[in-house]
Amino acid sequence: MTASTPDPLLTAELLERFRARAAGYDDANTFFTEDFAELESAGYLRMLVDTPPGDAGGMGGAAAAQRRLASAAPATALGVNMHLVWTAVAGLLADRGDASLRFVLDDAAQGEIFAFGVSEPGNDAVLFDSLTRVESLPDGGFGFTGTKVFTSLSPVWTRLGIFGKLEGQNGEDVILHAFVPRGTPGVEIVEDWNPLGMRATQSHTTRLSDVRVPAGAVFRRIPAGPNADLLVFGIFAAFESLIASVYLGIADRALDLAALALARRRSHVADRPLADDPVLRNLLAGAAMRRTGAEAELRSVTQDLDARTDVGSQWFARLVTLKTHAVDAAVAATGAALHVGGGSGFSASSEVARLHRDALAGQFHPSTEESARATVATALLGPPST
Ligand SMILES: Cc1cc2nc3c(=O)[nH]c(=O)nc-3n(C[C@H](O)[C@H](O)[C@H](O)COP(=O)(O)OP(=O)(O)OC[C@H]3O[C@@H](n4cnc5c(N)ncnc54)[C@H](O)[C@@H]3O)c2cc1C
Repeated sequence: MTASTPDPLLTAELLERFRARAAGYDDANTFFTEDFAELESAGYLRMLVDTPPGDAGGMGGAAAAQRRLASAAPATALGVNMHLVWTAVAGLLADRGDASLRFVLDDAAQGEIFAFGVSEPGNDAVLFDSLTRVESLPDGGFGFTGTKVFTSLSPVWTRLGIFGKLEGQNGEDVILHAFVPRGTPGVEIVEDWNPLGMRATQSHTTRLSDVRVPAGAVFRRIPAGPNADLLVFGIFAAFESLIASVYLGIADRALDLAALALARRRSHVADRPLADDPVLRNLLAGAAMRRTGAEAELRSVTQDLDARTDVGSQWFARLVTLKTHAVDAAVAATGAALHVGGGSGFSASSEVARLHRDALAGQFHPSTEESARATVATALLGPPST
């Protein structure tokens, strides 16, 4: 399915309602409550349960749907992305013979909402280390204490995916992954979200204070440090490809708005539409070429994920490159749309200005530009010697 193919889950009317509400959520810095209710009742959150990754083409379908949703309401798409990523991870693992996250799909089918409590202040190792401390409890369970930042879907999640580090003897530390249900004692949502863009995601800080997790709720134990555990691959693959879809959707909308503006505006001096100005045509074409490149990458990555194509150690380089290119395409397209649309687009309430602010958020998601380049260089050269 392409970005322009009708999607049974996202009707044109639904998308127009989302687009109409997006400015209000952004202005008031509030959660996309009405959009969320409509997506939930349309079955959008069960998308990867009903059409899983693999032969059914779940990754390709989810990527196309998220791209369309983001073209109408980027923050709504980024928010639900976190839930979709968990269901994609569960499906990717199941499709590769690992049923350990099957319960995520069952719970999502029952209406549970999954969120990502991964990011921690000052933890640039992301999945490979954790500043959240885990303690073993006498009953066999664990206590988690730490801070998670940027928790999208804070107002609505019912299952928060967290991880923390259990210090082992002889320096063999282990990262423990678990889901905690909403209402678990010690989980505190600190309502501090007031960013430049993607405001409706309401990605508040989450404090964990001795959060008790039964042994059975820990679904993965991975040695701390870089490793190629299938869970790490699954999170990376699902996260990078679905995040790329969101930013590609922003690029789509920005290019449409830019083309409309060029057709509408005229040069008084040259007595012709700005759409005939060769400099502006060139500018728009450059931005559109970036979108086309990222689109081709997204399609090939999601096809290979669904087909279980073995690209070996190239997977991580491909995934971080896709994410980087999609965010670059969104920033270039929104920048071009601002430029060709004239001064009215600079109004704080204009759609194109909001899209540009939303696009700027993309650089902060893993992998950042620096980390992506380090990954690609390592794929080519091996790790640095010092
Ligand atoms: C719109 C949006 C939604 C997101 N949603 C999610 C999500 O749902 N789940 C998720 O896990 N991640 C999410 N992320 C987080 C994202 O993936 C990054 O991890 C996040 O942007 C932090 O990046 P950073 O480390 O560069 O930020 P930084 O600004 O470096 O750090 C983030 C916070 O940590 C503090 N900090 C930084 N370094 C230190 C230090 N050494 N010691 C103490 N404090 C420090 C900063 O003051 C800041 O408050 C989201 C990001 C965005 C932009």
